[in-house]
Amino acid sequence: MAHCPQRCEAIVLRHTNYGEADIILTLFTAEFGLQKGFARAARKSRKRFGAVLDPFTQAVFQWTSGRGDLWLLQEADLVNSRIGLRSDFQRLALASYGSELVTLLLEDEEPHLTIYELLFSFLDYLEQGGQLKIARLLFELRLIYLLGYMPHLLHCSECLKIFSEESIRFDSVRGGSLCLDCAGSMALDVELGTVGTLARSLKVVHHRFNGFQFGEKTIREAGLILDQVLHQVLPREPKSRQFLTRE
Ligand SMILES: [Zn+2]
Repeated sequence: MAHCPQRCEAIVLRHTNYGEADIILTLFTAEFGLQKGFARAARKSRKRFGAVLDPFTQAVFQWTSGRGDLWLLQEADLVNSRIGLRSDFQRLALASYGSELVTLLLEDEEPHLTIYELLFSFLDYLEQGGQLKIARLLFELRLIYLLGYMPHLLHCSECLKIFSEESIRFDSVRGGSLCLDCAGSMALDVELGTVGTLARSLKVVHHRFNGFQFGEKTIREAGLILDQVLHQVLPREPKSRQFLTRE
């Protein structure tokens, strides 16, 4: 049965060797979400696919439907290889972590243009020498927000009191920020300034990474807050996290 080839842009998230010469790619697309693509004999002849098989590469793939959900990749035109990412281990580790979060948190085949734009601008920022702490903070924050997991920040999650200048705490399981009356002793101590910075950062369009500055304390507290939220929503710990350092 003949199938018409389709075309669509994708970012390569993973590359797995299969059999003697084939490759299976995990692809993320704006239109079709996460997909698996089968590149037959791609290790014997790199001619058809050239440099597009490596992680973090963005390319326009042409495919036909295969058995099940697998795309049979026919050819690809390179958009951006992001070769600069591969020369710095910490940048590469953070790019892998970002890709793994997308793989873990999105449903297969769920289209998501904004998260596609978020991922490729995050990878671009990393490749162009952006600051790692800023890249991680903004990527995690925006991913949580765009997937609808954002905790309460500027008011108490339980009594709904709006904060003005007081000390606050944070507990993602209880919904987010907490006033001292509601918090008890178990919740995380954070400054109101930190949650204020997170809330303000979300007002900037999701694909812009340049132009942000955060203090050390904000980075540290925001990291603890985002870790709590991610721990709550992820199905398992990302394997790539062990290669990252928060500080
Ligand atoms: Zn309260």
